[in-house]
Amino acid sequence: MSRKVINAVVIFGALSLTSVLLIQVFWIKSTLKAQQTALTLQERQDSLNMRQFEEQVRVALRNVVEEINTQQADSSDLYGAVKQKSTNYFLVDINEDLHPYYLEQLLKRYFYDNGISQNFLYGIYDCFNDSIVYGNLIRFSRDSLYNPISDTIAGITSPELAWKKDGHYFTVFFPDVQNELVELSVQSSSPWLYLLIIVVLILGFFVFSLSVIIRQKRLAEVRNDFINNMTHELKTPISTIGLSSETILREDFSHNPEKLKKYASIIYKENKRLENQVEKVLNIAKLRENEITLNKSKIAIHEILEEAAESFRFNQLENGGLIETVYNATDDIINADEVHITNVVFNIIDNAVKYARETIVIRIQTKNERGGISILFEDNGIGIKKDDLKQIFEKFYRVPTGNLHDVKGFGLGLYYVKLIVEAHRGTIHVKSKVDEGTSFLIWLPK
Ligand code: ADP
Repeated sequence: MSRKVINAVVIFGALSLTSVLLIQVFWIKSTLKAQQTALTLQERQDSLNMRQFEEQVRVALRNVVEEINTQQADSSDLYGAVKQKSTNYFLVDINEDLHPYYLEQLLKRYFYDNGISQNFLYGIYDCFNDSIVYGNLIRFSRDSLYNPISDTIAGITSPELAWKKDGHYFTVFFPDVQNELVELSVQSSSPWLYLLIIVVLILGFFVFSLSVIIRQKRLAEVRNDFINNMTHELKTPISTIGLSSETILREDFSHNPEKLKKYASIIYKENKRLENQVEKVLNIAKLRENEITLNKSKIAIHEILEEAAESFRFNQLENGGLIETVYNATDDIINADEVHITNVVFNIIDNAVKYARETIVIRIQTKNERGGISILFEDNGIGIKKDDLKQIFEKFYRVPTGNLHDVKGFGLGLYYVKLIVEAHRGTIHVKSKVDEGTSFLIWLPK
């Protein structure tokens, strides 16, 4: 996939993702509002229905008492007899002789006449000890209006069905009345959850796909960069060798053996350089975290640093580069692999030279801390951007500079440095500011 196509996919993906999210948020908001309104209306309607229902029950019960009194030719006061204890629970005082089945018939009839279509449970109580004398659950059904659930099983019967005057009351309870409201609100919120889960899953999958595409793109770039560098690095000595050997073949050197020797030495040197390059790349590319073997011995860090500083000074004789060393560590002896640690120091100083901005100034400081030694390398080079800083220790990673690579390298130096430091159970940290410089802090245990 070309860079343009990937960029288009990323931009298109991000745009569609944002619009899906926006639509989703808008949709959720408006549906929530509509649901809220519907719920308020429903609640209002329910409370109206409830009040109407309570009124119907009170009237029906008063009718029942009235009927009983008429039957018994009693003219006692009806108004205090019916008491409402809660929305679905009523209590009625009775002073008459009454057969329970007769009461049941009356309740059924007057409930039906008052349009009450609910199951109800009635119970007759002895008011001296509040114990139930008789009770039954009556189911409402459209065909037969009201049915007792059973005469014998569900109904509580007492042998003392002869209901004496005074000291009795009966209650009516509607078990299904209050539940309806609760069910409504539970039902209306459940499809939401599924929709939300599906949208979150789709979004998650989308983000995952995008991250895979971006990672693949970066890998392809890194690989291309590496091949370009490799080609460049290897081509130069090969073409020099080619030119020199061609000259030797073409020309007659019988009168000028010195010139022949010069060409031969060019071929020899370039071949050595080629060999070194291939060796270096192959060695580092092959290295893996758990495959490094360290030949540890007691080494003096200050000596290694001094050696590197001397080499730097020698190479910078013409350019006027400066290196300053401040050895604050009192104990610079650690148990480590001398060759690898020397390579680490040279790699970091080489980078400071490669990525210089003006006259190079390098400062190296050592310090004893946390049972080991820390070495700080500071340069005044071009610096590294924050985004690249996270990746400079990755294998083959080079800070992208467009197609132009005037600085040679394979992106393996810092990968190697980190690998070696960590193989010694040490740590490495980097700080950098573009156009100001970079500092690497290495800590190695004793
Ligand atoms: P190489 O130098 O072969 O490219 P490295 O692994 O040594 O690979 O470094 C990775 C990248 O980090 C380099 O391409 C360079 O851009 C950046 N870098 C490393 N050291 C410095 C430094 N001292 N100053 C600025 N940039 C640096």
